[in-house]
Amino acid sequence: MDTFGLKIIASDRVFYEGRCRQIIIPAPDGEKGILPNHENMVIAVNVGDARMEVEKGKWVDIAVGAGFMEIVNNRVTMLVDTAERPEEIDIRRAEEAKERAEEQLRQKQSIQEYYHSQASLARAMNRLKVSKEKPWNL
Ligand code: ATP
Repeated sequence: MDTFGLKIIASDRVFYEGRCRQIIIPAPDGEKGILPNHENMVIAVNVGDARMEVEKGKWVDIAVGAGFMEIVNNRVTMLVDTAERPEEIDIRRAEEAKERAEEQLRQKQSIQEYYHSQASLARAMNRLKVSKEKPWNL
């Protein structure tokens, strides 16, 4: 199988730069799989669980924040707020963030605050989900 060049940039670091066989991302209309030689396009990325196959059968799960992906001439760049591997996720911190967001959602809030709390809750729940992912390559 062919590969493509992938760069994943989070706001605090370059998360990954190298070759990739395929990547599955959480898009607004469901999961999207990107294979080599995909047509050029820009796709929104949602908070969710992305998975990339870096070598044959070796998958890496990533908890991603919101952002977008650009595909140009078999080079893929994903620019997201945050990106973490399952083993990097601080479960206690995510649980606390989830409880905080749930408590805020129980309070009377402006519509803007409500969207903010909902987004925090989605990030925390996604981190908790991804932290439990088993390595796919075992
Ligand atoms: P918190 O309220 O705990 O800060 P958050 O969802 O507001 O959570 P983000 O703004 O999404 O946090 O991320 C800020 C930075 O902290 C990023 O670098 C992100 O990768 C990291 N981060 C956030 N939560 C966790 C976590 N549970 N485990 C590991 N890194 C985390």
